[in-house]
Amino acid sequence: MSLLVVGSVALDSIETPSAARENILGGSAVFGSFAASFFAPVQLVGVVGEDWPVEHTRLLERRGIDMSGLEVSKGGKTFRWSGKYMRNMNDRETLETQLNVLGDFQPKLPETFRRAQFVLLGNGSTVTQHMVIDQLAGADLVVADTMNLWINIERESLDRLLKRIDGLVLNDEEAKMLTDELNVVTAGRRILDMGPKFVVIKKGEHGAMFLSGYDAFLFPAYPTEGVVDPTGAGDCFAGGMMGYLASVGRIEPETIKTAIAYGTLVASFCVEGFSLDRLSAITKADLDRRLGELRQMASF
Ligand code: AMP
Repeated sequence: MSLLVVGSVALDSIETPSAARENILGGSAVFGSFAASFFAPVQLVGVVGEDWPVEHTRLLERRGIDMSGLEVSKGGKTFRWSGKYMRNMNDRETLETQLNVLGDFQPKLPETFRRAQFVLLGNGSTVTQHMVIDQLAGADLVVADTMNLWINIERESLDRLLKRIDGLVLNDEEAKMLTDELNVVTAGRRILDMGPKFVVIKKGEHGAMFLSGYDAFLFPAYPTEGVVDPTGAGDCFAGGMMGYLASVGRIEPETIKTAIAYGTLVASFCVEGFSLDRLSAITKADLDRRLGELRQMASF
């Protein structure tokens, strides 16, 4: 089955302790779609402005991503985000967010996209995420990603969204912020009380935790030494996970575990380059090689 991915399509400017790049391809829908395309056909929905370099669209099309849901807004400017990473390459500071055309994005799903069974609502405004759910004919699995910005400024809308989705993906700090809890497991349980059937809490280089009413699974991150740019890791995690689930079409404890492992591994390659540089250079076989290594490292 295919996966519908909605989110930001961005031009990012990134500073790390050793390098910097300006106006490179980014955004939650871009990283999420590319990650999912290792496993399943993907349909992207997003918006850009007239300054959008068309070669970025071509790159995603060459991956087989259906870009017919990318709206080019006349006279508008593409969403821009800039961030700076600290020496540990884990902590980052947002230098600037220019919402531009993303600010009043009203997604209109092409007719064929409305029947999607697997949907990833990538990081973006909860208002947009609601509008996408409104247009779906009835999906099997809707998972949303979110971040501190939306928890802060769209709290009421986020609370309503939590009652409309099956799963939520967010990082540990965001989970604590959303629930006012200091313990990450307690925070996860509180999020389940707010609506979703499951929650995946990402803990950066320390891996991820899956919690539902029935199960709890822990996953180590793949230990990468060559971190070049962590941007997009979270989106790749969610995209890889959802792409794999769409490819098997079954949501069961075993497929969820494998899906989270693949999400972890796509993220591990993503951080080895800026933008999609590293991911563009690997194949599914490279992911499977790391899957074998991860299995060996994590078994006892
Ligand atoms: P991640 O590193 O997984 O958190 O994702 C980084 C990507 O998220 C970058 O490519 C940004 O363009 C995008 N991004 C940053 N802030 C926002 C936001 N407020 N809404 C949507 N996308 C964002």
